[in-house]
Amino acid sequence: MKTDYLNRCDGDVRALLQNVEQKLNVLIEFVGDDRLNTCGPTGHGMLKTRVEPLPPRIYFPTNGYFSNGAIWHELSHIRRALVDSVPFITCAARGAEELDNAVEHLFIVPGEILKYPERVLHWDLTVQKLWTEMIPFVSVNELPAMDLCSRPCKIP
Ligand SMILES: [Zn+2]
Repeated sequence: MKTDYLNRCDGDVRALLQNVEQKLNVLIEFVGDDRLNTCGPTGHGMLKTRVEPLPPRIYFPTNGYFSNGAIWHELSHIRRALVDSVPFITCAARGAEELDNAVEHLFIVPGEILKYPERVLHWDLTVQKLWTEMIPFVSVNELPAMDLCSRPCKIP
């Protein structure tokens, strides 16, 4: 992680970052992305994660938006996928990636809100958007085609 960005993180985020990087034996890259400056449920910016290929990347807005809770959230995605090897939902149906992400949020977001209560607004708005955009996108007829696959372990 770039030192300037690391210096803005609280102790919990730094500890999680260092734990994940040590277990993966790789440094997570932080990449500024102008396209994220007006995203997110409040329009102030949002973070995004690319888990694979290694090294994992966390993309952040370049408008100054900074949230320890958001970084903790993205690190949790990386930890669950690459350290804990949590199975992911995959299928050829449209919306599988979004559905997997929504299921992951069932595990990540409660701990995130417990640690960072200010994230409630973000998730309240995000869930409202999810109900109006994602749920109609996944056809009930496509659900039986889904299956669970294990992520290959990347730890040497
Ligand atoms: Zn997420």
